[in-house]
Amino acid sequence: MLPDFRVRQRDFLLEISRAMTAQLDLGEVLRLVLKASVVMLAGQVGLVALRDADGQYAFRATLGVDTGQLPDLDVRLDELVNNSSYGYDREFLTTKLNQMAVSIDRSLRQSLFLPLVIREEPVGLLIVFRSYGIPATDNDLQILQSFADQAAIAVHNAQLYARIDQERKRLAATLENSADGVMILDRQLRILGFNRALARMAGWSVQEAIGRSQAEVITWQRLERGDLAQAIAEGWPFRTAEDEPADTLYVEGDLLRRDGMTLSVAITYAPLLSPEGTLENIIANVRDITNFRRAQEMQNVFISTVSHELKTPVAIIKGYAGTLRREDASWDPQVVRDSLTVIEEEADRLTGLIENLLAASKLRAERMRLDVGDVQMDKLAEAVVERFSTQTSTHDFELQFPPDFPVIQGDEVRLRQVLDNLVSNAIKYSPDGGRVTVGGEVDDRMVTIFVRDQGIGIPEDEQDKVFDRFYRVDGPISKKTKGTGLGLYLVRAIVEAHGGTIRVKSKTRSGSTFYFTLPL
Ligand code: ADP
Repeated sequence: MLPDFRVRQRDFLLEISRAMTAQLDLGEVLRLVLKASVVMLAGQVGLVALRDADGQYAFRATLGVDTGQLPDLDVRLDELVNNSSYGYDREFLTTKLNQMAVSIDRSLRQSLFLPLVIREEPVGLLIVFRSYGIPATDNDLQILQSFADQAAIAVHNAQLYARIDQERKRLAATLENSADGVMILDRQLRILGFNRALARMAGWSVQEAIGRSQAEVITWQRLERGDLAQAIAEGWPFRTAEDEPADTLYVEGDLLRRDGMTLSVAITYAPLLSPEGTLENIIANVRDITNFRRAQEMQNVFISTVSHELKTPVAIIKGYAGTLRREDASWDPQVVRDSLTVIEEEADRLTGLIENLLAASKLRAERMRLDVGDVQMDKLAEAVVERFSTQTSTHDFELQFPPDFPVIQGDEVRLRQVLDNLVSNAIKYSPDGGRVTVGGEVDDRMVTIFVRDQGIGIPEDEQDKVFDRFYRVDGPISKKTKGTGLGLYLVRAIVEAHGGTIRVKSKTRSGSTFYFTLPL
């Protein structure tokens, strides 16, 4: 038969371990430990102090102490343990603890205490005060040890739990604030997690998506690469060859949103395996690739237009040159002159195109450098207009500059490129002819230059985009008109490098006016 107190000790230990598994409330477990220790050791007062991450101790559970006494006890605890030079020096601790006991109640004569230790690291202190005179026996200390061990485990569990909880919160916040869509699936492809970014992309609210099958929420208008259902049917994420790690799966296509719109997305599915190697969860990362696709498309269109643009003048030049050098024909001087003019013009066009291309590719690599000097914008406009007026018979030109137009500081070559591009567009995009006006206005801080045409105009929702690289308005006229979508991109870059701004005012079929400012 076990002696009575052994039975009670065992019962207490059972109760404590049950509390530990049933709930992760540290305070509750510590209170139980204190009760058990005090009862088993016939004490009057019990205290548990815990050490925080900074090494500071504080009482976390007490028994038999008035709350009014706690501030004084805290000060004493400070002297007791937070004085690192003493550490767990027993003699020093005993003296200090006895003073603490008397401060609680004069009748408390004896203190029993044990450090709570996890993996040789002190995590706290368990103290019992009692009123007898006889010294504590080894048995007393063994009893206390059994409870101290339980308390230490509870503290350790609570710390682990707090760490996991913090980790979980951090992870949840990361997922929640990720710009990419993130979705967590279970083995049956049910949605367990769905972040806000994905809710925006798919058009499903987080609450509605969670719990549904992913096939219900992620529906495709068009799948271009990969297919989750098919991959799973073929054994994904497990490879046929053994020992090969499970692979991620890439799926790309046009997602059919809940509202019927589509969105180009790329999804990477990553399997999460259990330690035994079975599939536990799938983490899906969803990225909106609309912009990427658009850029790719623009690049493709650009390459085909550029090659076309380069080929045309070369073919014309070659044609005329070939004709002129035929030895079986003699050309009258007028034909030769005309042919040479065409060759010269086409060569100019090629040069202009190559200049734009070079300037645009350089712009991507570095900031535009300006060669600044005095520039007379009215004179520059006159020269540009004069040059273009020889190239068209359906347009007439007007200059509208006030007299004494101020000289500004700028890069003349670049500013000529701005006017060249704007005037060339004004002509290109008014195929029925009309008037092209180039003019200027001055105020005390800047000059504003404008180029106006009576052409096809630009729809309102395209007006910001025409300044983008490679952007061309989609329409029958632009299709017929040669262009690379680089002109206005360069124009804006040059104007902005000068500290100015550019905007367009236009209405479909009623012409366009481009305004740019240059600081004085
Ligand atoms: P592009 O080489 O195509 O002319 P730009 O960058 O100069 O390239 O212009 C971009 C697009 O803006 C053009 O393709 C055209 O659709 C539109 N655009 C530019 N200028 C005008 C204008 N004056 N009138 C109408 N549309 C214009």
